[in-house]
Amino acid sequence: MLFPVLQGQTYPHAVGKVVCVGRNYAAHAQELNNPIPAAPILFLKPADSVVAVAPQFSIPTQYGAVHHELEIAVLIGQRLVNATEDHVRNALIGVGLGLDLTLRDVQDSLKHQGHPWERAKAFDGACPLTDFIAVAPSFDWSNLSLTLWRNGERQQAGSSADMLFPIVSLITHMSANFALNPGDVVLTGTPAGVGPLNVGDQLQLQLQDYLDVRTQVCASHSAAV
Ligand code: ZN
Repeated sequence: MLFPVLQGQTYPHAVGKVVCVGRNYAAHAQELNNPIPAAPILFLKPADSVVAVAPQFSIPTQYGAVHHELEIAVLIGQRLVNATEDHVRNALIGVGLGLDLTLRDVQDSLKHQGHPWERAKAFDGACPLTDFIAVAPSFDWSNLSLTLWRNGERQQAGSSADMLFPIVSLITHMSANFALNPGDVVLTGTPAGVGPLNVGDQLQLQLQDYLDVRTQVCASHSAAV
């Protein structure tokens, strides 16, 4: 169970779930040969998927390629059910970054069979998160840049300005499908440039000039706990 860190303090509500959106940047949909969706494609990651991204995080090594998807992460501070955009703005208390780790080979197989994606997206440790920066209701969510460097090379770069479903309206839509509670996190989709991670990779995750986090990829151990 991970309690988010908000402005250096442990937030009193543990992450209950992570609500995610697929294909929220047109260039990423195209790089995986997926059509542009008419409505947000929503999926969930459970609490056990959430870990701290730094100083290191682990990836499974026995299920084929593990792709990084760098995403803007939003920390929810008030319960949201069928919320208006004003309610949503007032309920968003933190901004950070997350990696929507994806077992790409497993996901491709599941997609071809028409099966749900959970085994590819919701495994333990599948959602490494940074700390969160506190935001006010007036925060501008519409033009946030994010960048992932891998072993010194720029791998992903994007801006929330390029989202198909902008953050506030996306979360409004999510709240009509799933109750969001304090401590829940929203991942808002990944820009183009996804690709495989290898054990030993050095990563740098940047959110505009708000966050600059360095971390390292390790192998997960499969001991029973
Ligand atoms: Zn994603």
